[in-house]
Amino acid sequence: MELLIDPETQALADRVRRFIDTEVIPREPLATHPDGWPPEVWAEVRAAAKAAGVWAPQLPRELGGLGLTLSQCAPVFEAAGRSLLGPGALNCAAPDEGNLHLLERYATPAQRERYLLPLAAGMIRSAFAMTEPAPGAGSDPTMIRTQATRRGQRWVINGHKWFVTGADGAAFVIVMARTNPDVPASEGCTLFLVDADHPGLQLVRRIPGLGAHLPGGHCELRLVACEVGDEAVLGPVNRGFALTQQRLGPARLTHCMRWIGAAQRALEIATARAREREAFGAPLAQHQAVQWMLADSEIDLHAARLMVLHAAALIDHGDEARRETSICKVFVAEAVNRVIDRAVQICGALGIAHDLPLATMYAEARAFRIYDGASEVHRMVIARQVLRAAARQAAAADQS
Ligand SMILES: Cc1cc2nc3c(=O)[nH]c(=O)nc-3n(C[C@H](O)[C@H](O)[C@H](O)COP(=O)(O)OP(=O)(O)OC[C@H]3O[C@@H](n4cnc5c(N)ncnc54)[C@H](O)[C@@H]3O)c2cc1C
Repeated sequence: MELLIDPETQALADRVRRFIDTEVIPREPLATHPDGWPPEVWAEVRAAAKAAGVWAPQLPRELGGLGLTLSQCAPVFEAAGRSLLGPGALNCAAPDEGNLHLLERYATPAQRERYLLPLAAGMIRSAFAMTEPAPGAGSDPTMIRTQATRRGQRWVINGHKWFVTGADGAAFVIVMARTNPDVPASEGCTLFLVDADHPGLQLVRRIPGLGAHLPGGHCELRLVACEVGDEAVLGPVNRGFALTQQRLGPARLTHCMRWIGAAQRALEIATARAREREAFGAPLAQHQAVQWMLADSEIDLHAARLMVLHAAALIDHGDEARRETSICKVFVAEAVNRVIDRAVQICGALGIAHDLPLATMYAEARAFRIYDGASEVHRMVIARQVLRAAARQAAAADQS
């Protein structure tokens, strides 16, 4: 990777790795609170991240970050992702990281003061609410049913959202709602900044499910006659889909980057175990079936890193890289699950015990094949492009 990552970025990634190894991983056993760590531990670790100069690598320097490009984020986020708590410690975890990106681009000066600056400083948390229970928006976001209706100079939002990561305890939620029912949803939705203490925004529940304890859980929300002014509109009215795409493209890649870090740690744990543990007269590492699992994981991780670096470089050069981010999303989500699964297998019964972080990673990684677009939906996007290209080639051949 030395040819693809500049020495300065690599040095920063090494520093982040040392921070995770010394400040985050030793505190993993304290993560028994519903939000992972209790608030005082989060505060302590985040202060340590600021002091160590590893805070918010993705944010511009004027917002207190390190000003990295998306490509430079790849090895740094990977190092942070070695612990599931690492990205939160550095303020580069989902959903805040994607929301910061969106606010940085579209917040008005007032929204910047009220939401962006405290979020960048780690004083508050945020959430992003697009998905709805059936028959609303899920894999197909154009099925959105949440409505924001104009009443005088105000908007009144009504709707039902779920799987809103981080909503419990967030200071505000970015809500996607339909603002023009007479046009296709892709041209008639708007993003709204809704304060969590707004009486029209109800936290129904934290949805219990597979996965680790991380800040705010995954929540079900109802918006009931939730009245907001124009100052709550984020970006242009009716441009919610375009803005969301700008958030989701890079956010899909940063998810991949963080997960590659977790999977790399899983491989290291499995490798160490294979070297120590003996069976049938030899260390596990000397049995070919185990060697092949290690090799397959190394191949998965190498391919994953190269794909992510390529897609990130395209985005840094102004390309939307929709095809490449979809390819990364499918491959990395599935590869990460394979790598963690193999690590569990190599560690045997110990693999599923909470003595190691593998069981937590295993539970948490499963959802990665669903959120930010299920693998099947990204495969559909990729296949459409393959078929369009084939149709163009056939048309060109007919004309020549
Ligand atoms: C842990 C977690 C965190 C999340 N966080 C957030 C969040 O913060 N904010 C937010 O708005 N949403 C969030 N989501 C929701 C997530 O984005 C949706 O779950 C996802 O878009 C899929 O929607 P759905 O669950 O309604 O699945 P459905 O739309 O019901 O689809 C179910 C399954 O059908 C299959 N499928 C769908 N379409 C096709 C197709 N065209 N071809 C073949 N198969 C298909 C896929 O296998 C898919 O998994 C989160 C989800 C999870 C699990």
